[in-house]
Amino acid sequence: MSKIQRMFSLATQLAKPRKLNDLSKNHWFGCVGIRSDNAIVYSRNIPAHIGKEAGSAKIKAAHAEARLVQKLDYGSEIYVVRIAKKKTEDDSSTFLIARPCCMCETVIRSKKIRRVYYSINNDQYGVWDPIKNVDRVYSL
Ligand SMILES: [Zn+2]
Repeated sequence: MSKIQRMFSLATQLAKPRKLNDLSKNHWFGCVGIRSDNAIVYSRNIPAHIGKEAGSAKIKAAHAEARLVQKLDYGSEIYVVRIAKKKTEDDSSTFLIARPCCMCETVIRSKKIRRVYYSINNDQYGVWDPIKNVDRVYSL
């Protein structure tokens, strides 16, 4: 199993809902970060109404990537997956596209994150270089 597959697998486990109010969604985000000192940190989406802040700060507080960045330092890497509630026929998780939204992009850029690896589907993933603002697609 490659490092990307291992990190996506960890992010998938973290994304799965623990509370009943999460079950109303059709998909869940999970996010793993590797800091420059190699420590692994993680985050997941939380329902926006739980956030304490108002307006856009509340949305930002709900996005897994934006929450994760608070725990990261310059040069960190992020692995983010979005998984469908509906499983595949062989009972494995279905990856959906998890490219960070423009709000999370801004937060990620400001922290000088080195790479963001994101799920696209069960066959492909994307790599975004926030410094050069280039995306590449690879086979999983
Ligand atoms: Zn976002």
